[in-house]
Amino acid sequence: MTDTTERRLSRRGLLQGSAALSLAGAAGVAAAEPAAAATTRRRHRDVDVVIVGAGLAGLTTARELQQHGPSVLVLEARDRVGGRTLNHPLPHGYHGDLGGTWIGPTQTEIAKLARQMDVHAFNQPDTGKQVYFDGQRSTYSDTGLLGTAPPDPTVIADIVVLVKQLDAMATHIPVHAPWEAAHATEWDRLTVDQWARGQAINYSKISKLLSALFEALAGCEPREISLLHTAAYVATATDGSTPGTVERLIDTRGGAQARRFVEGAQEISIRLARHIGHHHVLPASPVRRIEQHRHGVTVTSDRAVVRAKRVVVAIPPTLAGRIDYHPILPALTDGLLQRSPQGTLIKVEAFYDRPWWRDHGLTGAAVSTVGPAKTTFDVSSKDGKLGGLLGFVGGDEARRYTNRHTALKRAVLANFAEYFGDRRAHHPTSVVVQDWSREQWTRGCPVGIFGPGTLTEYGRHIAQPVGRIHWAGTETAIYWHGYMDGAVRSGQRAAAEVRKHL
Ligand code: FAD
Repeated sequence: MTDTTERRLSRRGLLQGSAALSLAGAAGVAAAEPAAAATTRRRHRDVDVVIVGAGLAGLTTARELQQHGPSVLVLEARDRVGGRTLNHPLPHGYHGDLGGTWIGPTQTEIAKLARQMDVHAFNQPDTGKQVYFDGQRSTYSDTGLLGTAPPDPTVIADIVVLVKQLDAMATHIPVHAPWEAAHATEWDRLTVDQWARGQAINYSKISKLLSALFEALAGCEPREISLLHTAAYVATATDGSTPGTVERLIDTRGGAQARRFVEGAQEISIRLARHIGHHHVLPASPVRRIEQHRHGVTVTSDRAVVRAKRVVVAIPPTLAGRIDYHPILPALTDGLLQRSPQGTLIKVEAFYDRPWWRDHGLTGAAVSTVGPAKTTFDVSSKDGKLGGLLGFVGGDEARRYTNRHTALKRAVLANFAEYFGDRRAHHPTSVVVQDWSREQWTRGCPVGIFGPGTLTEYGRHIAQPVGRIHWAGTETAIYWHGYMDGAVRSGQRAAAEVRKHL
């Protein structure tokens, strides 16, 4: 383990402690016991519905059910809530967001939930120029026709055509069942890379830009994700009021990166868990086994054996596939869980005394064909007193650096220095590396990826209940699949589904 990792873990340990403590504090009970000791003394509980996972999806499911009467218990593997959202404490009450961060137009459910939890959104700073780096540095405004996409004359025609085509494909995708699209089989046979190769004039250059995009968007390379999944991802980038578009996914201004939270995104889950109540959320309690009987389910975790009428599994598909089910899951449900690897994405955040790039008229956003950080954003505090730069390191770049975090830190700071033309980049007050593939209870991020053939052959099983087992989690969402908003919506859907059977 590198120094960086140790420091990162110990900082996170503190945070996890405080999150677990705040959970416990909600009802004045002690924080989580050590899981190992607890395995020999499992509590027995009876509830109406047991929920696996205290991310936004699981907690939303619990709250929605609770509001209508059924008793619930959420079993959470970690000693903190929030799953793929994670606050990182910084001096003077500031913090970084190491997981899900931004919200944007049509993400109405996460915005509503945040308001209900008294967590405040603010506009992502976006005054100034963005940087494009392809070996040479240039700057541009995201108020132009291409928005966040760089106006590189050597690929501008390709960008326009590919974006236009994806937007058009998305309008032909039924968001509740992408596998039923008229061209589903044709699109699911291809990866994005194969499709782009057939369309582009300047493939060698556009493929580099596509890598930069997919590494940050889905933690994968264009050769790993099916064209159908990509078009569906675009189609679901809406609340149903307008068609989803590539632009809404990638843009800051008017897009999915428009706003973030003063208190940090994880705070939404921490407060939601408090609302639900300590007695109903059991941390440090990974679920190992789900048994279905004629009259109910028995769910066994490291700390509890819970009997319930129904169970909602609100975790990423690849983790759902690691639970032991009795009877065994139907072959196609199990097949889907086997074919949904999480993306590979690392966040590197560097903090500074102030956002010095603003002195150069820059927003802190960059798109680069050179890694490891090919996409960057300003993650400074709302008041601008603490400067922060985020580098997304995904796909091949993340795999290259997953065991070399010290080297990664250096390389990303060098990226920042080159993109923003200032040696101050090399001298942050702190740097955090958050490698989600090394997290036991996430195994990569931001979302599960479907390669060719998966959606058409297995997709219909993503949210289809299996007896008394129901599924939630952002991967099952019809709108904003892959996002915090989708997680919340999936919890609402799962709760409504379960209530029909109680
Ligand atoms: P999770 O958050 O993964 O929750 C699942 C929970 O289940 C976890 O707490 C986990 O510990 C627990 N668990 C797993 N296995 C078990 C088990 N066997 N037993 C018990 N508990 C278990 N979204 C946005 O909207 N905007 C963004 O800017 C954005 N950026 C992102 C950047 C990164 C680096 C990452 C990681 C994610 C990002 N996302 C973003 C995605 C967003 O964070 C997720 O879509 C959302 O948080 C998923 O919530 P969930 O409840 O579906 O799943």
